[in-house]
Amino acid sequence: MKIGIPRALLYYQYFPVWKTLFEELGAEVVVSPSTTQSILTDGSSRVVSDTCLPVKVFLGHVIWLADKCDRIFIPAVRSVEPKVYNCSKFLGLPDMTRAVIPEAPPFLEIDIDINKGRSTLYRAIYSLGRNINKNPFKIRKAGQAAWQSYLDYREYMLKNRISPPLALQHITGEAAIRNSSSITNAGGQKGTIALIGHPYLIYDEYINHRLIHRLEQAGNKVITPEMVASPDLKAAVATVTGGAYWTYEDEVAGAGGYYLQSKADGIIGIMAFGCGPDSLMMDMVRRYAVKLGSTPFMSLTLEEHTAEAGVVTRLEAFTDMVYRRKKADSRVCV
Ligand code: SF4
Repeated sequence: MKIGIPRALLYYQYFPVWKTLFEELGAEVVVSPSTTQSILTDGSSRVVSDTCLPVKVFLGHVIWLADKCDRIFIPAVRSVEPKVYNCSKFLGLPDMTRAVIPEAPPFLEIDIDINKGRSTLYRAIYSLGRNINKNPFKIRKAGQAAWQSYLDYREYMLKNRISPPLALQHITGEAAIRNSSSITNAGGQKGTIALIGHPYLIYDEYINHRLIHRLEQAGNKVITPEMVASPDLKAAVATVTGGAYWTYEDEVAGAGGYYLQSKADGIIGIMAFGCGPDSLMMDMVRRYAVKLGSTPFMSLTLEEHTAEAGVVTRLEAFTDMVYRRKKADSRVCV
């Protein structure tokens, strides 16, 4: 069985888990390529314009995979921490995708909701695995290997301070795709810029107009949420928002709070136009930045029509301010 995995949304968080699970069960995994204009156009054509950019991108990747695999894996990730929930797009992802891409092959689905208890989660994994291999021992072994691959992946990024694209290339042996969103640690002379936000915004170089590459080319060191240990992110979430409500709050409020406290030279918050959770979380980070008054902070909102020139201009203006401020060692916050 060939199983398609869209290179979008939760891909950057969980790809090693899914790949290990399916390959251990005997399936072949097919991944869509990096986002292109045609992938984005295809995805956008299926939904109303108000839909957030990452979902449009996701749908475009599903369309790309539609005639290249037997099944497409689309999980409904509701909650991965007690009483902390995902945005509604993730909850209804399989249903929404099925409704707008009727030509897609059948989906492999799983509901992940940690609040329903461990036994429900194990049953969900077992019933997902049965679609590929009926042997319960094999499914159990594949599940354990998949979990271990997740731990290894997180540890590898944290230990080596590298971003998901590079870690994925190393761990999965995936050939280096053209991806300038891999942090190379080449820069660092002029300033240290922290990028905060969801991985599907930070590492999709097509929709963010090669943000990481541009910052590194300009002589900056780029740091991201994956380079911070989970307990530190959670402590920062508690400080900034008073406690997590949204899943993946760590990568926005947690990383923002942490890098504000640890004094990166500047912080750029990346969010998608029309995203409710991000607009709240990013505003809380902005207020915290104002309160501390120590680190320049800029939020960058991405949408389908975001022009490259606009991103470049804002980046240049922001980094100029960071350098000036660094030089003068004064205390400014925008
Ligand atoms: S969290 Fe925001 S950007 Fe992400 S899928 Fe939900 S609405 Fe879209």
